[in-house]
Amino acid sequence: MIAAERGCTRPGCNAPATLTQVHHVTDWAKGGATDIENLTLACDSCHSLVGDGPDNWKTVVIPQDSENAGRIGWIASRLVDPTQTPRVNDRHHAGELVAAAIRSLRP
Ligand SMILES: [Zn+2]
Repeated sequence: MIAAERGCTRPGCNAPATLTQVHHVTDWAKGGATDIENLTLACDSCHSLVGDGPDNWKTVVIPQDSENAGRIGWIASRLVDPTQTPRVNDRHHAGELVAAAIRSLRP
């Protein structure tokens, strides 16, 4: 997980992997497995934002037919994002952003 995610996966968070804990994307209490496909890294502050309430954030696995497939998407509360669009954290993946930019510039 550290090699793949490199840090907290909530968009905009800079916390490195050493300051994170493992979060179940589908809550363990709701049948979510402690399985690599259902886990992500989240710092204490971001982890505390996740929950079922209307003001809480939610986490999802980005579907395979989407951009960022397989990564963890965070959905902000409805007050922050009425569109409820899952977003990924690119702050720990600058190299991938540069590679994508270079690919887009090539004919
Ligand atoms: Zn964080």
